[in-house]
Amino acid sequence: MIEYENLGRANSPFFREYFKALKKAIKGGWYILGNEVSSFEKEFASYIGTSQCVGVASGLDALILAIDALDLPKNSEIIVPSNTYIATIISIIRCGHIPILVEPDIRTYNIDPLKIEEKITSKTKAIIVVHLYGKACEMDPILHICNKYNLRLIEDCAQAHGAMYKNKKVGTFGIGCFSFYPTKNLGALGDAGAITTNDEILANKLRALRNYGSFKKYYNEYVGYNSRLDELQASLLRIKLRDLDKINNHKRRLAKIYHENLSDKFIKPVVHPDFFDVYHIYNIRHPERDKLKDYLLKNGVKTEIHYPCPPHKQKAMELYLTGDYPISSEIHETTLSLPISYFHKEKDILTVCKILNKF
Ligand SMILES: *Cc1c(COP(=O)(O)O)cnc(C)c1O
Repeated sequence: MIEYENLGRANSPFFREYFKALKKAIKGGWYILGNEVSSFEKEFASYIGTSQCVGVASGLDALILAIDALDLPKNSEIIVPSNTYIATIISIIRCGHIPILVEPDIRTYNIDPLKIEEKITSKTKAIIVVHLYGKACEMDPILHICNKYNLRLIEDCAQAHGAMYKNKKVGTFGIGCFSFYPTKNLGALGDAGAITTNDEILANKLRALRNYGSFKKYYNEYVGYNSRLDELQASLLRIKLRDLDKINNHKRRLAKIYHENLSDKFIKPVVHPDFFDVYHIYNIRHPERDKLKDYLLKNGVKTEIHYPCPPHKQKAMELYLTGDYPISSEIHETTLSLPISYFHKEKDILTVCKILNKF
């Protein structure tokens, strides 16, 4: 059986260092907002290439705090891709704003820059781009639109730690929101997240917001949140961060094997020199996706679907999202995610290719 993911196996190269770090952090006796968090923030900012990083409790919270910190007028319209994980859209609704969906480019699965302008109104205040599956969005035209209409830019980087557009890492173009959910390329052993920015004033506001809106203990400036990255997770993230490039390169190597060995009857992710992809997910598309998934399982290969139901068809979104998004629907009906974990070997991927090509 070739598993889709196995976090025990994927994390096992780090176990020895993890145990050492945990022992130190536990014995240290300081568990919230201490040296591990501030050191991780410095190291992650330096990795991404921003001056600031603020650790928070999850990827969803990173998005919510980032939107909240912008102080947009209530019911502002925020542009967001129709093809994303539900968290991106929930963050907009949770902050009292209106998500305006824009269809993806069917080749990249990311927001189609050519379809953004037609959705902009006088109430539009921000764009949230999502670098889905570990591929950066096409940032030049998006940055041009943000400048032209004076829109704030938030990046959902939850699937794209280390991904680049024209040699610039995601999380440096706008306000970068990261998740360290255990399955992500930089995964903790629990929930965790972070926000990156070059704006020191904004970063300080975010530091207050994550901690009850307080700059000074027991004095509260904002109606804040309890959304702190904790010391234990930060101590683990510091260890894994040192090997993030190794993890990304491993996944890129496995993706290359799929790319070179899979038959053209499957639609594969596009590869283009402007984009440095980190393959949080390696997806293919096929009109008989469900049959293909069953066939693979019968032949000992586990797969996943990211995602089976698009945001605009979710029950939770009934009151918030209307209209048809055929490109997004098409992706959700045909996409299949193949094994591409840190523990997979090149021969595992060749086996998957061989089985797939016989379908
Ligand atoms: C995982 C993910 C999130 C949410 O992250 P959590 O840490 O689970 O809150 C947000 N957006 C995208 C695109 C994600 O993949």
